[in-house]
Amino acid sequence: MTAPTAPAHFDVAVVGAGPAGLAAAFLLARTGFATALVAPATRPDDVRTTALLGGSVTFFETLGLWKEIAAAGADLAVMRLVDDTGRLLRAPEATFRAAEIGLPSFGVNIVNSALTRILDDHVARARGLTRIEAAVESADLGSERAALTLSDGRTVTATLVVAADGKKSRLREAAGISTTSWAHPQSALVLNLAHPVPHRAVSTEFHGPHGPYVLVPLPGNRSSVVLVETPEEAERLKDLADEPLALELERRAHSILGRFTVEPGRQVWPLSSMIATSHGARRVALVGEAAHTFPPIGAQGLNLSLRDIASLAEVVADDARAKKDIGAQEALEAYEASRRLDVETRTRGVDVANRALLSDLLPVQAVRSLGFALANSIAPLRRLVMREGLTPTWSTPRLMRGLDIAAV
Ligand SMILES: Cc1cc2nc3c(=O)[nH]c(=O)nc-3n(C[C@H](O)[C@H](O)[C@H](O)COP(=O)(O)OP(=O)(O)OC[C@H]3O[C@@H](n4cnc5c(N)ncnc54)[C@H](O)[C@@H]3O)c2cc1C
Repeated sequence: MTAPTAPAHFDVAVVGAGPAGLAAAFLLARTGFATALVAPATRPDDVRTTALLGGSVTFFETLGLWKEIAAAGADLAVMRLVDDTGRLLRAPEATFRAAEIGLPSFGVNIVNSALTRILDDHVARARGLTRIEAAVESADLGSERAALTLSDGRTVTATLVVAADGKKSRLREAAGISTTSWAHPQSALVLNLAHPVPHRAVSTEFHGPHGPYVLVPLPGNRSSVVLVETPEEAERLKDLADEPLALELERRAHSILGRFTVEPGRQVWPLSSMIATSHGARRVALVGEAAHTFPPIGAQGLNLSLRDIASLAEVVADDARAKKDIGAQEALEAYEASRRLDVETRTRGVDVANRALLSDLLPVQAVRSLGFALANSIAPLRRLVMREGLTPTWSTPRLMRGLDIAAV
């Protein structure tokens, strides 16, 4: 009788292969950790796009991936916010130009499926990274190591588990981390389209009574659409034929880009907010939507997730150099401390912005309009808003300052 083979052991097991999991696995392997990426094959049908801004650009530059990502996306040089609520008190239009803060662009907008394809390719070729195409069924989180039982019957063990398994994270639950969550009366219709008028690297966000309608540049004369509406209206629009949908979207965009041609692929994403009460416990560190979700306002979601990943890698690389246990409670607490303020302020900030948009109360509309007016008319304030929107000064991990990290 042959003895059962011992489960494969890794320094780090990253669970989940969305953009957050792929980026985390690539970075941690590159930092010097024996890393497993455990997840079913990445879904190729995500038509959402991500505006990678500020620190996220530096993140991928430092990892040597930026040229490829930038080539597949479109520059974002100007952001326009237009109050289209039709209310009594309307905010003045606000325009933010990257040139005002000395940058050629704020970043690049890329279709999620293109971003994950690039990351997937690099993950497949990365040294020290093992890709395991299976789901995690259960986790035994011990004091020395974590053991993950996979859907194919295998078990892998790891010193640290990085939960990048999305907003319904099974690993978060296994680690006993609770969440604070709340729903929004909104869904986002997402699709991409072509138009005859060039976008000139300008993203335009129309603020409607049910949420923002954003047109973000894609390569060529194309843009991505995120239209936040009531769930019923988002579904109604999704089910329209191409021509009436294109006309409706063009009408709502006041024809600024001419006649629209919608491309195949439409998705509706119900919106919700969630914050995990801690970023880590019992050898599990949460990153990405396993730790926080919020409505797509100001293109913050994945940018925040990349700051999670850069901060976590920094903490565990420092611990590894000091010969400490990278999955210990002390490491998870240091990671939690590095992320709490950034995650709370972004999640609550987006929530306040969303509620202010939905509110019919005149005083709320007045404050919102005043905020827009001030940001528009006071140049130093506008520059501050732009810089903090790209990467908060209080939370800039080393990688996002262009400094590489290594565990040894
Ligand atoms: C409409 C919309 C527009 C957005 N626009 C922007 C934007 O412009 N800029 C921006 O920064 N962000 C944006 N976001 C947010 C961004 O899209 C998300 O933050 C990001 O896609 C989530 O990535 P993730 O990797 O954390 O999670 P996910 O993409 O949900 O990935 C989770 C992964 O975990 C895997 N998984 C789940 N369970 C298991 C298990 N048990 N075992 C193994 N694997 C498992 C899944 O298969 C998947 O691979 C937007 C979001 C929405 C809804």
